[in-house]
Amino acid sequence: MSRLDPWKNATKQLDDACRLLNLSDDLREYLAQPNKVLRVKLPVKMDNGNMRIFTGFRSQHNNDRGPYKGGIRFFDPDGGIEYMEREVMALSAWMTWKCAIIDVPFGGGKGGVFVNPKKEKLSPNEMERITRRFAYAISEIIGPKKDIPAPDVYTTGTEMTQIMDTFSKLEGTYEPGVITGKPINQGGSLARDVATGLGCVYCIREACKSIKMKVNGMHVAIQGFGNAGIFVAEYLEKMGAKIIAVSDSQGGIISKNGFNVKKLAEYKQKTKSVNGFINSKKITNKELLTTKCDVLVPAALENQIDVKVANNVKCKIIAEAANGPTLPDSDDILYDKKIITIPDILANSGGVYISYLEWVQNNMGYYWTREDVISKMEQKITNSYKIISNFSKKNKIDMRKAAMAIAVSRVVDAFKVRGIWP
Ligand code: NAD
Repeated sequence: MSRLDPWKNATKQLDDACRLLNLSDDLREYLAQPNKVLRVKLPVKMDNGNMRIFTGFRSQHNNDRGPYKGGIRFFDPDGGIEYMEREVMALSAWMTWKCAIIDVPFGGGKGGVFVNPKKEKLSPNEMERITRRFAYAISEIIGPKKDIPAPDVYTTGTEMTQIMDTFSKLEGTYEPGVITGKPINQGGSLARDVATGLGCVYCIREACKSIKMKVNGMHVAIQGFGNAGIFVAEYLEKMGAKIIAVSDSQGGIISKNGFNVKKLAEYKQKTKSVNGFINSKKITNKELLTTKCDVLVPAALENQIDVKVANNVKCKIIAEAANGPTLPDSDDILYDKKIITIPDILANSGGVYISYLEWVQNNMGYYWTREDVISKMEQKITNSYKIISNFSKKNKIDMRKAAMAIAVSRVVDAFKVRGIWP
């Protein structure tokens, strides 16, 4: 495995936190290993009548603070099936720390099926058969009080509803709380669509306050103009910021005067790319990352800010809307450059926080207004930002190390109180 191995990166971040907290080797080992990794074979009948065998995973990292929580992706990473297993293990560990840092009563899980529905142009019927077979295969380990999956790469509310329906039929009871990210008419929460982007914006607002920089008029570059990136752009623009550069998988664009985000989103919807938008100049994704701006928001993929990029970024704040965009060796460089890096486990935790509120509403059978949900999230994420920022300043460490140390200590506290049984 290369140094981009996500499992290695996740383990290194944990090791740093354990060192900082002076944790013993046995505790470190306990926290590093997932509790369970289930690998399942999925025989599925395709539209042409042939059977295909898919492979699926569910990694349950830690449940000392509550049921496992984390997405299900349908994807085919370059490293193949074995790589995907390590990827979901790493992502499940990050979910443990993310749930602890935003202080929801969940542990960490992640799963998926090795298949790329976009590349393969799977029909809706084939997607449904894969999804339901996967739901059946993992049904023994998921449940509203056991493990609550959610959408992730190339899965949507449609697949979540199919998983909920399959699980409910197997149990013989209505179980909306087995999964989050459902459509509103299936028990989904209002504001879940904007949650990740808006939560990231609340973090950026706090970071700006800490360096006395006004949001109004500041320049922002965003890598990735999808679900997370678009809402970061939309809400920052509402607060007066100028979105001067954006990109997607086709490349990037820049405009010194800033874009009209609504028009850009409509353009992207129509043409499938931001490229060619009116009054813009084309740039590469690498150029976007090193554009001179106040705030840089990686909102696309992991492993984007390597040492070379870190040495060349020209911003004051990096807000990691994406998961794992910064390589471990780059953190010290960014810290030495006095750049505030808001780590992914905090910057994109608005999504899991509103997923938590969806689960709470499902369990109560009572549903809040959009304003209720947003104000609960704003309060929680702002408070978490302050706790991490204070810890980082007090201990003279970057915010990722601070967030990890706080998250790990919360999980350790829960583990120690519960103890080992049997
Ligand atoms: P998305 O698929 O909606 O959007 C991703 C965007 O990135 C698209 O515009 C795509 O064109 C672009 N992209 C792909 N390859 C690129 C490349 N090489 N360079 C630049 N842009 C590229 O996905 P999303 O839901 O917005 O997720 C983006 C990131 O945010 C992921 O890392 C995801 O794990 C993380 N995240 C999302 C949520 C959420 O609620 N959506 C929650 C937590 C974390």
